[in-house]
Amino acid sequence: MRRRKWPFPEWFSVLKRVGCHMKNKPKKPFVPDERQETVRKNIVSVLQEQPHTAREISGTVRIPERAVYDHLQHIQKTVIRRALRLIITPSECKKCGFVFEKREKLHKPGKCPVCRNEAITEPVYSIKSV
Ligand SMILES: [Zn+2]
Repeated sequence: MRRRKWPFPEWFSVLKRVGCHMKNKPKKPFVPDERQETVRKNIVSVLQEQPHTAREISGTVRIPERAVYDHLQHIQKTVIRRALRLIITPSECKKCGFVFEKREKLHKPGKCPVCRNEAITEPVYSIKSV
């Protein structure tokens, strides 16, 4: 019986599979802190200039809307050090005028607790010096 020296075809297929697997693996969404800082700085300067909704921030700074809320949360805590404050103009029910003043979350609420209406204005954010 002839001994096989090196099972090339098998190895090749293994390598191919591994290589393929690596290629298909989604890239780690590695975002360096520096980039995050830049985005936050941009948001801060944009909000200092004029009030924006989360959607407007998303369009101006070119980040997904859901990322805007994370950044705003961070900004809300950190701008205090720079004697600035994130001002939130609360959402309002378009039907009965209920104002979501005591809302802790930054996201737009789902519906009005008074009239159950779902047409609600978006909260507007701005940054002012304290
Ligand atoms: Zn309402």
